[in-house]
Amino acid sequence: MKIAVAKIRETLGAELEFSWQVPKKLLDVSYCGCKLCGGVEVTGKLVNGGDEIAMTAEAELTAEYECSRCLEPVRVELKIPIFESYTRDRIEGRSWFDGDTVDIGEAVCQTVVLGVPVRALCREECRGLCPGCGVSLNEVPCKCRDETGDERWQALSGFRAERES
Ligand SMILES: [Zn+2]
Ligand SMILES: [Zn+2]
Repeated sequence: MKIAVAKIRETLGAELEFSWQVPKKLLDVSYCGCKLCGGVEVTGKLVNGGDEIAMTAEAELTAEYECSRCLEPVRVELKIPIFESYTRDRIEGRSWFDGDTVDIGEAVCQTVVLGVPVRALCREECRGLCPGCGVSLNEVPCKCRDETGDERWQALSGFRAERES
């Protein structure tokens, strides 16, 4: 995403606002175990700071996960701050601009991908699934632990007693 900066290039402190609907194909968040739903909107500004042009921006997006405890779908709204500066001269390890345009694409996409959490809970107190019978403990009180006839739990409690003694 290239932004023409001719308007602010010569004036110290001059600002240029921008917004960008980031194409989702530029944002590979599959390692986070989520899908992006709706658009990814970045709004921000470029400021002429003399030797460099500074970008401050914020990305707004919604990601859909499976709750990492109970596996119910959960949508998380995210606001990810983005900062970068672009030097006039090429400097090793820094982003730079070519005089007419600043290309914000890489900084925006990297920051967004790194800013998306790798897991989510439907709520902080989610009780998850029972390891014995698989019911969602948010919805029904599980009876596994009360049923004296369930051999799996008896075996487990026997094992615990052994380890503790
Ligand atoms: Zn949950
Ligand atoms: Zn159970």
